[in-house]
Amino acid sequence: MIRRRNVFAAFGSAVAVLLVAGSLSISQPQAIAAVPVNGINVANMDPAVKPIVDFFQYANGTWLKKTPIPNEYDKWGVLNILNDKNQTLLKGILEKSSNDKTAAAGSNTKKVGDFYFSGMNTAQIEKDDLAPLSEELKRIDDIKNLEDLRAETSRLHEYGVNALFSISSGQDFKDSTKVIGQLSQGGLGLPDRDYYTNTDDHSKTLRDQYVAHVGKMLELLGEKDAPAKSKRIMEIETALAEGSMKNTDMRDPDKVYHKMKLSEMEEMTPHFAWRAYLKEIGHSDMGDVNVGQPEFFKAMNTQLEKVSIADWKSYLKWQLINMSAPYLSQRFVDQDFEFYGKTLTGKKENLPRWKRIVTATDKAMGEAVGQEYVEVTFTPDAKKRALDLVKKIKETLREDLASLDWMSEKTRKNAVEKLDALGLKIGYPDKWRDYSKLEVSRDSYMNNVLAADKFEFHRQLDKIGKPVDRNEWLMTPQTVNAYYWAEQNEIVFPAGILQPPIFDPAADDATNLGAMGMIIGHELTHGFDDQGSKFDGKGNLKDWWTAEDQTRFKERVALIEKQYEGYKVIDDVRFKGKLVAGEAAADLGGLTIAYKTLEKILGDDPRKKDVNGFTPEQRFFISFAQAWATNVRPEKERLMAATDPHPTPKYRVLGTLANMEAFEKTFGPGDKSLMLPAKERCQLW
Ligand SMILES: [Zn+2]
Repeated sequence: MIRRRNVFAAFGSAVAVLLVAGSLSISQPQAIAAVPVNGINVANMDPAVKPIVDFFQYANGTWLKKTPIPNEYDKWGVLNILNDKNQTLLKGILEKSSNDKTAAAGSNTKKVGDFYFSGMNTAQIEKDDLAPLSEELKRIDDIKNLEDLRAETSRLHEYGVNALFSISSGQDFKDSTKVIGQLSQGGLGLPDRDYYTNTDDHSKTLRDQYVAHVGKMLELLGEKDAPAKSKRIMEIETALAEGSMKNTDMRDPDKVYHKMKLSEMEEMTPHFAWRAYLKEIGHSDMGDVNVGQPEFFKAMNTQLEKVSIADWKSYLKWQLINMSAPYLSQRFVDQDFEFYGKTLTGKKENLPRWKRIVTATDKAMGEAVGQEYVEVTFTPDAKKRALDLVKKIKETLREDLASLDWMSEKTRKNAVEKLDALGLKIGYPDKWRDYSKLEVSRDSYMNNVLAADKFEFHRQLDKIGKPVDRNEWLMTPQTVNAYYWAEQNEIVFPAGILQPPIFDPAADDATNLGAMGMIIGHELTHGFDDQGSKFDGKGNLKDWWTAEDQTRFKERVALIEKQYEGYKVIDDVRFKGKLVAGEAAADLGGLTIAYKTLEKILGDDPRKKDVNGFTPEQRFFISFAQAWATNVRPEKERLMAATDPHPTPKYRVLGTLANMEAFEKTFGPGDKSLMLPAKERCQLW
């Protein structure tokens, strides 16, 4: 579902993740500073900094200074280190599977082992070079008219290529018991539509670099007149970008809900024969489809009318090679990294091969690998402790909702009802995904990747018209991340994030609540953020707020928008208030509810500086800030500000604390305080 290029795009449905999906990768062990095994790590702090002035530096200063970003990464923090540990474990599992001579044909062990083997078999990959794509490239060469173009687009979509638009499935926003088809804007090679339209010098330079990169890729394909072709590709993508919805608007479920009948789709896009397309992808009887961004599809229609077939061929070749390059021979891998790694995110070198193949195998058959992973890592005790923590925090939020002074009784009743209906998943799925229809061989890595993409494409579309599968997980168990899914009204914490230093069954409540408690609260309050609040307890897009409460809620969220627009991420680049408000609100809500839970547990007992010379409250805030200790490259900061609904780690800490009176009480007051003036502080929960 999350393919390589559209990790930049939003999920097809209303899902709020803790971190951008796919943003975490793996590491260089020698660069890791000591990770605390129990509670906070005093050696990572910088006591020379006043906590109330810059708490991020105070809690992490020494670590940040001593821990440069490894060359292969665009950012490096505690969560990356956890992910790295997981990758090493997965490598062990995959190598073992690959060497297992007794693995039965067709078994998951055999499949993941073969997939990994094919990716590590560089001799074969170099020998094959472009051969795995030759049939598809020939088909593109043979395109003669719009019918051929559509037919080839349908084939490329099955392989996960981001040509023109994307199609998948999702719950009907207004009837969460039904799964329907979902069409979304797409077709771009740069991370977001704004990259094509921004007028600042940095964006202009990046566009020139992108056009040069597209040209070089076409040259590697053996195309003549590559520079001229890449300019035409840029013109097509720019026109599609101009018709695309802004990512700030994409957050609004009402703006991306346009259920249409086939006849309406045909009317919207007369130059694209939907009936034939649906037949070609094997889903003729799709029924009503949600068209996320009708304006985009109208722009696409205009382009289909205007652009020559010759230019469309170049465009499709570019989209195909752009998706495939990381899995092909070295010359393609290197050129791809040159732009998407170095230019766009500031990485200095590519990840070692094994890490890239672990990630690809994980993406292709994550739950097959995950089954073995949880056996090694996730204990029943960890699950019990995590469940207990969630229960306590949920109870706090329930009491909080019951006592909020800004919410009317009517809205409050609905809010509590929604909270009570909330589903919870911890660790790993009860039922594992069935990969029996996926064919994997040792022969060709590229073909394995294409087969896995095709498997996933149809797995998604096959859900249409069937009952909603409430057992499904959107993340694999080994993922260091978490999510709230509005249409299922559930919070999910994979085993991957439930480990030290984020969650330590051996650590005390103060430190666990600061790190993991905040994350649990973050996901819980997503049910009530700018996006989640539009869905009811059954996962339907429905207005359950009174108009007055709605207004009061929006006024409070607007404070957060304004607050984050005030932060300079890098140079003169600021956060987009509307893009980050939901995540920032969840950070604030999460830390607030976790803090209230701690106060409840501690009761009226006098607070002692009992561990490392800190009170439980102090350790709570330090533990929170240390969970987000991260160095970020400037290029990546720019990318995050443009496309990521999450603020950068530094501002997830500083921006959250700036609103919290409890923090000021614990570490303040002081001159040059990081706190917002009282009237600008947001208080939701
Ligand atoms: Zn979130």
